[in-house]
Amino acid sequence: MDTIQTRTWHHLPKSEVIELLDTDLDNGLELPEVEDRRERFGPNAITHRQGQGPLVRFLMEFHQPLVYILLAAAVITALLQEWVDSIVIMGVVLVNATIGFVQETKALKAIDALARAMTSEATVMRGGEKTRISSTQLVPGDVVFLQSGDKVPADLRLLACRELQVDESTLTGESVPIEKRIDAIDVDTVLADRRNMVYSSTLVTYGTATGVVVGIGDDTEIGRISELISTAEVLATPLTRKIAHFSGVLLYVILGMAAVTFVIGLLRGESALDMFMAAVALSVGAIPEGLPAAVTITLAIGVGKMAKHNAIIRKLPAVETLGSTTVICSDKTGTLTQNQMTVRAVYATGERLDISGVGYAPDGEILINDAAINLDHHPALIECLKAGLLCNDSAVSLQDDGWKVTGDPTEAALIVSARKAGMSVETMTHANPRLDAIPFESEYQYMATLHDRGSGNAPVAYVKGSVESILPRCDDALGKRNESATLDAYDIHRRVNEMATEGLRVLAFATKELSVRATAIEHADVESGLTFIGLQGMIDPPRPEAVEAVRACQAAGIQVKMITGDHAGTASAIASQIGLVGIRHLSQDSPSSPDAQDDSPTTDHFLTGQMLAELSDEQLHDAVETTSVFARVAPEQKLRLVKALQHRGHVVAMTGDGVNDAPALRRADIGVAMGVTGTEVAKEAADMVLTDDNFSSIESAIEEGREVFDNLIKFITWTLPTNIGEGLVILVAVILGTALPILPVQILWINMTTAVLLGLMLAFEPKEPGIMLRRPRDPASPILSRTLMFRILLVGVLLLIGSFGLFKWELNHGESEAAGRTAAVNVFVFGELFYLFNCRSLTRSMFAIGVFSNPWLLSGVGLMILMQIGFTYLPFMNHAFGSAPIGMTEWYLILGTGFMIYCVVGIEKWLRHRTSKPATSSIGNHACHIR
Ligand code: ADP
Ligand code: MG
Repeated sequence: MDTIQTRTWHHLPKSEVIELLDTDLDNGLELPEVEDRRERFGPNAITHRQGQGPLVRFLMEFHQPLVYILLAAAVITALLQEWVDSIVIMGVVLVNATIGFVQETKALKAIDALARAMTSEATVMRGGEKTRISSTQLVPGDVVFLQSGDKVPADLRLLACRELQVDESTLTGESVPIEKRIDAIDVDTVLADRRNMVYSSTLVTYGTATGVVVGIGDDTEIGRISELISTAEVLATPLTRKIAHFSGVLLYVILGMAAVTFVIGLLRGESALDMFMAAVALSVGAIPEGLPAAVTITLAIGVGKMAKHNAIIRKLPAVETLGSTTVICSDKTGTLTQNQMTVRAVYATGERLDISGVGYAPDGEILINDAAINLDHHPALIECLKAGLLCNDSAVSLQDDGWKVTGDPTEAALIVSARKAGMSVETMTHANPRLDAIPFESEYQYMATLHDRGSGNAPVAYVKGSVESILPRCDDALGKRNESATLDAYDIHRRVNEMATEGLRVLAFATKELSVRATAIEHADVESGLTFIGLQGMIDPPRPEAVEAVRACQAAGIQVKMITGDHAGTASAIASQIGLVGIRHLSQDSPSSPDAQDDSPTTDHFLTGQMLAELSDEQLHDAVETTSVFARVAPEQKLRLVKALQHRGHVVAMTGDGVNDAPALRRADIGVAMGVTGTEVAKEAADMVLTDDNFSSIESAIEEGREVFDNLIKFITWTLPTNIGEGLVILVAVILGTALPILPVQILWINMTTAVLLGLMLAFEPKEPGIMLRRPRDPASPILSRTLMFRILLVGVLLLIGSFGLFKWELNHGESEAAGRTAAVNVFVFGELFYLFNCRSLTRSMFAIGVFSNPWLLSGVGLMILMQIGFTYLPFMNHAFGSAPIGMTEWYLILGTGFMIYCVVGIEKWLRHRTSKPATSSIGNHACHIR
């Protein structure tokens, strides 16, 4: 593969750069040439280097306090020449590490694959046409367009730029965006100061630019240093950290208890060797070896399920946090609505006209009072539609599967409305070629273009945007025959409110003649002196599934708030169509609006950006709770809203797509970026990306998040009693001075087989019915509620009594110690097996959730039974584990004990369920709305 010759691109003048790369600034590379270069230089991708090699990661599996104890036990038993014990302990450690390693590798791969599935795109000029391609397709010499929000797809030498600012922190560590220029600079300028270059993987935070590709893949600056960047994902979440901490504490408890056992035994005059084996047994019994692996697996399963529901998790802790979400702040356009815009109403020269037709097909008519009009009599209307056509960066084209939009649907709607009046983009742009443009940015709420009108005529600017941004700039209005007329701001506002109340998204249009020589347009040029042309109002229907999802969230105790740049009236209308307002947490005590000029009946549940700006932080803390619609909000204000909500103790999910949303996305507990319309900057800042931009995907992710947490708690509640029971059995045996009812190897057998065959199957437990009918989990609450702690202890003690009792019973009936131990081991296994059915739901009985609803679990149970038969009757198993065949009576007793445990826990659950108030039956600390 060729590599492109490294040159001091920043030092060369523009013309020389273009010549050296043999490209063309206006038309880009020709397509055959692109193919050629792709063959020569390969794809624009950085060779994937693994952060930590597999060996390191495998070894890391042993780097856990609890494993240290096991390793120490293995070494010491070996020194004592207790070979079987030593080998079994080593075997268990190895098996455990392997399971952990395999699962973690799988989880890492899945997360990595998801991250890489989100490829970024680039806009290039090729063969004279502007197209969007995957960034990996770029070749040296490609002419690339950049705009705010883009991730720079390769190393580029800038050829043209407009107020370009780039965040280069990934490369230089400098977090303040750098302003870029295009003039050549000194040869020995350091990387961070090369103002005419932009580098792969940095982020455009402002402005636009055109550049030519000078470096791709491993030959980019980031490619060169990527060895230094650790790509290793850390599989850590608040919960895994809590568990790690818990293991640390447990280590000392276990060591302490082992020491106590040892000392008590010695004092009773037992042999040091026996007591040492007892201490080992206690340690291996009390260690929940399976726990870390189970947590990782459960989280990974959750990530996979969320991906199936169009929510890609970028940061693992989000899986857990999702289950605790109490507020979702959602964008309106495209997330709650379909982003399928159709212009329905036009307002020009004091008249309102309606436009018929649906979607982007140009079939429809312009009507007044249901009668088609003669377009020749409405020159101002034509001007309004023309402004929409020219001040436009998008396109609508007929594809095999219907009319398709490239660009912004809001703008596409304007093209369609003009087409319905017989105007075409081609003829219009041909007659009025564009000289320059100011692109739309949410913070300015308008866009402007400058057009040539042929020889002698001064160029004209067309401006479109929100009414609030356009009207104050206007001095007069276009009259009936395109003459200058007085501006009736009152009437215009009345019309805007009227359209907004119908749920229409309203755009205002204005125009201005610039000086004859003007070839470029700046914000200052359209500051004032505009002539108002008219309004266009478009519908954007709510997504039907969003209506459902909002209802589900509200039932789950999650507030949904709409945050939009759109008009308050439009936002309110859509909010009530979606069911966001008018149901609950409505504003009995919401702050009265500071500027109460708007007296529409909905004032009490919305706030505008302007009102927000006037509220003090304290006032805002109250207002965020009661307000459901935030309209005309500037992206910067989203951060303030997140902070205010968090101040109230909320766990906040916030959506966003633009560059300016990034701070709010980072600050939110769950930053949600839009996969389709979102910028790379927003995606980079987010914890989760929605591949379909759909609100209902957030709701599904929350549901999955709750399920993941439920399943983790179920596993923990299921697994700990064994450890407690085993620890107690040894302790009691030593205190009473009897033979150990279970040996270290047998304990390891129990722990390993049950964790894999029984416990892990809980991760496949389907969602509990009513999972979205209870309140969000308080992230500050302990993992295990008191209820569950009690249950764990209860079962632990029952296991102790059962196993000890059966062991003694065997000895009393003259059976061997080996047979007694086999019976004791079977009590543990079958006790756990029956108890597993209790743990399928933390509150309901097995029959309420369906006995056969988890086939995985049933097959695990079947296998486990076979394993126990093998353990009891196969000679080689008897040899390895010191077990011995037992009779039928023993089996009855074992099964009886297991069934008794199931019944005791079942009754305990039933009693709690009955005594707790119906509305707040408790699972852990969460109250339930189970009716
Ligand atoms: P949202 O995405 O929440 O609907 P935006 O920030 O996209 O809000 O839009 C805010 C306002 O800016 C809109 O109400 C509209 O008046 C105006 N606007 C939206 N898109 C464009 C555009 N492409 N050109 C000009 N003005 C626009
Ligand atoms: Mg928008």
